[in-house]
Amino acid sequence: MSGGASFSHFSRRDGELYIEQVALNALANQFGTPCYVYSAAVLRDNFDAYSRALQGRDHLICYAVKACSNIAILQLLARRGAGFDIVSVGELERVLLAGGDPAKVVFSGVAKTASEMRRALDVGIHCFNVESAAELEVLAEVAAAAGQRAAVSLRVNPDVDAGTHPYISTGLKENKFGVAIEQAEAIYQRAAALPSIEVVGVDCHIGSQLTDATPLLDALERLLALVDRLDELGIPLQHIDLGGGLGVRYRDEQPPTADAYLSQVLQRLEGRPQRLVLEPGRSIVANSAVLLTETIYLKQSGDKHFAIVDAAMNDMLRPSLYQAWMALENTSASDAPERLYDVVGPVCETGDWLAKERPLRLRSGDRLAMFSAGAYGFTMASNYNSRTRAAEILVDGEQVQLIRERETLADLTRGEHLLDSV
Ligand SMILES: *Cc1c(COP(=O)(O)O)cnc(C)c1O
Repeated sequence: MSGGASFSHFSRRDGELYIEQVALNALANQFGTPCYVYSAAVLRDNFDAYSRALQGRDHLICYAVKACSNIAILQLLARRGAGFDIVSVGELERVLLAGGDPAKVVFSGVAKTASEMRRALDVGIHCFNVESAAELEVLAEVAAAAGQRAAVSLRVNPDVDAGTHPYISTGLKENKFGVAIEQAEAIYQRAAALPSIEVVGVDCHIGSQLTDATPLLDALERLLALVDRLDELGIPLQHIDLGGGLGVRYRDEQPPTADAYLSQVLQRLEGRPQRLVLEPGRSIVANSAVLLTETIYLKQSGDKHFAIVDAAMNDMLRPSLYQAWMALENTSASDAPERLYDVVGPVCETGDWLAKERPLRLRSGDRLAMFSAGAYGFTMASNYNSRTRAAEILVDGEQVQLIRERETLADLTRGEHLLDSV
């Protein structure tokens, strides 16, 4: 595949790689590397594709904050009407800082603590996606103590195989997420009997990077059967939340578009009064960003060529963690000889690689753009090897804004204390 320049809003002009109207090399000169660079246009396009597909139907698109949680990006999406799917109180505070509407927030996660619940109740979130019978009891107590009623959806595990990487497959019985669909009715009945709980919906999230809609539609069928059984039990639901999971093209995957996927969902929902809730993460942000990195050294070892770059697994974990393939291109045209490079970072781990055996024309000092880096990129970054986390930049047409400063060396030890006596 010729790679990333074919992604929308990325282009080549006289050999130079551009994001919207801005040359990536100019950004590397201005802000240094490594850095994440996002396209506002791609973010808007991706979000709008969801809203357009659902026009005319009661719906709520809750962007999954964990995919990319920079507050400027949350702000941009909130302005377009997005709600948010959060998995911690930290993500909730980000949404609030970004001007997101708490009434459009759904709270997922298997381990919500009482204090997280309390905060979410105080700001008035839309709904708790409860993942166990035990959590329901704690939530009921917290809500009662606060003199409130907590709106609840039960995350059910429809036991469908999402057919994706085992680490990002979440809808099988053996996964830790949600409750088995056979147990759901009993838990709903318990919930309906709790005065501090208001049953409002059902949700599921079966996995991530799904390149085929079939498992999502199978999951929906099982949810709908449950909705009907609950109706008969006198527990009508107001919404059905299908989670996120729609895949993107990293290399040659052909995931359905949001439109194609949702037209099939809407067909199955015809005649049903429930609001449709979705929690897309990756499909909104992945293809909006590149990770920019500079080549520090070229090195040959036997037959092997290494490009040692200034970004590492602490900046972008997906290759190490999921053996993910991500497109890489030199940001400038080069007349260097083409070689097959392993692109590796400075971290002291053999698992620290960004790409293997890629045909590239490279000299030291050249910059590489890693495509589709917007989702599960910066949010999974760490300070491993005492490396400062990268800067984040948002480009909108010709406009450039630094949306997160590169961490400083002082940031690295912030909050640490020397011993009083040794
Ligand atoms: C991670 C997650 C999502 C988003 O998944 P994507 O594959 O990024 O769309 C949605 N809902 C829940 C509960 C999640 O954990």
